[in-house]
Order: sequence, then structure tokens, then C-alpha cells
Amino acid sequence: HAERLDGLGTTIFAEMSALAVATGSVNLGQGFPDQDGPDSLLEGAIAAIRSGANQYPPGRGIPALRQAIVDHQQRFYGLAYDPGTQVLVTTGATEAIAAALLAYVEPGDEVIALEPYYDSYAAGIAFAGGRRVPVTLRAPSYRLDLDELRAAVTPRTKVLLINSPHNPTGTVLTDEELRGICAVALEHDLVVITDEVYEHLVYDGTHRPLASYDGMADRTVSISSAGKTFAVTGWKIGWVTGSPEVVTAVNTAKQFLTYVSGAPFQPAVADALALGNDYYDGLRAGLRSRRDLLADGLGEFGFEVHRPAATYFITTDIRPLGYTDGIDFCRQLPERAGVVAIPHQVFYDNTEAGKPLVRWAFCKRPEVLQEALIRLQKL
Ligand code: PMP
Ligand code: GLN
Repeated sequence: HAERLDGLGTTIFAEMSALAVATGSVNLGQGFPDQDGPDSLLEGAIAAIRSGANQYPPGRGIPALRQAIVDHQQRFYGLAYDPGTQVLVTTGATEAIAAALLAYVEPGDEVIALEPYYDSYAAGIAFAGGRRVPVTLRAPSYRLDLDELRAAVTPRTKVLLINSPHNPTGTVLTDEELRGICAVALEHDLVVITDEVYEHLVYDGTHRPLASYDGMADRTVSISSAGKTFAVTGWKIGWVTGSPEVVTAVNTAKQFLTYVSGAPFQPAVADALALGNDYYDGLRAGLRSRRDLLADGLGEFGFEVHRPAATYFITTDIRPLGYTDGIDFCRQLPERAGVVAIPHQVFYDNTEAGKPLVRWAFCKRPEVLQEALIRLQKL
């Protein structure tokens, strides 16, 4: 196979979900909810299929969804976009990330990514022929060190690939950190690709989009998705917002990756984006209490627990229990306790930093989390 596939192997999520099924384990590995999104959303897709939304939709997304994305950006962040030229619907955030990297990265260009990074970033950078340059969010706070970010920039740097709220640490970048990122981007004339799929899953603090900072509108590719916000990770409806030039560039790549995305899901997501604040508040409240349930339980076993400000994921340091290697720990966990979790290490270049860390997904029903905690007593 081609060199660009070297080192990509099988995604950890597929490996660990298969292991969970094969061993009958409680799957706290891959981040997907075990309850589907709101009924109105599910019924919307069924109705769309019945009413014939089954052929290629428009390349940039159906007008109703593009308008709903514009309305959402205005409502939550005061950001104004033109639905005709500044929005692109994609096949999940994953396609948007890949298309954005293909649109902006020349072979040999460097892409600075926050480490630990979501695994598709490595693949997307490799497919574009770029070079990944990590800036590590370090335990125990997992904050961004702006000096490290500045030091990572070289004359070959082209893109800052940012993810906030951040998977897997749950870090929500602060105003100061975001300002620092913007200053670096402006000083070195960099493109910022910002993955904000967890924008509505923030339990402490607030999310502010990078595109809302001065000078960023024309250089930022903002990415989000319906998967997390509406608990339909399998629908794979994502989107990009940005300047007309940004959206055209990303679409130039997107149109030859998938051409268009999920016709019957688009009208349903359009309606869901307009749900009232009670929906968004309820989503957050439900997940916050699950976070606390699992974080408290893991803490009682003696793990050093990082209670995340956002996302679906708790990080633990396993060393207080006598373990040193998260990969070994996660490989043995199904047999030992009937639970699956994800080792951080696979999200790092600087693997030492991730070695003792393990990620646990809490986007599961409380009784499932309880069952996992009961099983973990066997550890
Ligand atoms: N970015 C991050 C940080 C994620 O955790 C995920 C998880 N699924 C994605 C992107 C992919 O989103 P989608 O399913 O919409 O492709
Ligand atoms: N984003 C989810 C996670 O981090 C799952 C993504 C995937 O399976 N590719 O667990």
C-alpha cells in the first residue's frame, strides 16, 4: 500500500468496539450515546425518506439546513453568515476536517495540532501530505501552553488545527488561550481549522468559537456536526462555516470525496437546530450528571480522575492503582473486568505523556455506568 497509510493501522475506536462486542463488555470506549436523539428528529428523517428526500441533495447542503446553521451561529454566538456562500454541509465533521486539510495543506507543510488529538487528524494530515507537529496539553490540568504553541511554529507551518471543547481531555480553551492562538495565526498568516463538535456539551465554563475573534473570520474554517449535539453519531451530518473563499476551497475537495451528504437527515437536522433552549439545557444537564456519576465512581477506586469541563470523556491516570501502561491496561480490561476504555497513548506523538492515561466515555445510561462501576470492583 501507499506510504501515506503507514502508521494508520486500524482506528482504536473500531478495535475497541469490536473487543467490547466480542467480550460482552460494557463499552465506555468509543464515544457514542446509547440513547438516540429527540423523537422529533428521528421522525423528521423518517418523514423525509417517505416524502422522497432520497436523491442527491444540493452539493453545499439543502437550503433549509444551511439557513438553520446560519441561524444557529447567530443565536448562540452572534456570528453572521450568508447561507448561500458561507456554509457547507459535510458527511460528518470527519469529512469536513479531511476536506479542509486537503484544501489548505501542501505536501511538506506543517500542521500544528493539540495533542492528544482525535485520531482522524493524523490521517487527514497524512492524506494531504502534511507533517504533524503536536503541542501537548499536559496533565494534570491539560491547559494549552502558549509558549509551546509559539515555539512550534516554523516557516513551514501552514495550519493550526484546534479542537475545543477538546477530545479526549475535555478542555475548553479559555479566552486567554483562544486569544493566544489568534495572535499566532495573525502573526504568521496561518489558516485555523477549528473542530467544535462538542460545542454544546460544556458543563463548566463556556465555549467561544475561534471565528468570533477579531481578524479571524477570513482565515478560520469552523467545523461542527449534528452527531454529538443531537445524539445521532451515525447520521454523519456535519458542516463548515467560514468566508466564501474558505467554504469554496473546502467544497472543492468535499465535492470529490463524497459529492453530497445524507439527504433525508438534512431536513431533520435543520429542524433540530431550531429546538428551544430547553433541549440544549437538558442535553447538558443529563450529561453533566453522568459525568459526575462516573467520575465519582472512578475516583473511589483510587484512579486520579480528571473531571472534564466538557465532552463525553473522563481521563484517569492509572498509576495510583499500580498500572503504568494504558495500552496494556485497556487490552486487559475486558477480560479482567468486562469493561472497555480507550488508552490516551494512541492520540499522541509524544507517547510518554499519554502512557498512564485512560479515557472513559460517560455518554451512556446511568444504569450502564453503574454496571461498569460494579464490574470495575474486580480490578
Ligand atoms: N472531531 C472530534 C474531536 C470528535 O471527537 C469526533 C467524534 N466523533 C469527530 C470530530 C467526528 O465527528 P463526526 O462523527 O461528525 O464525523
Ligand atoms: N469521536 C468518538 C470518540 O472519540 C468516536 C469517533 C469514531 O469512532 N471515529 O470516541
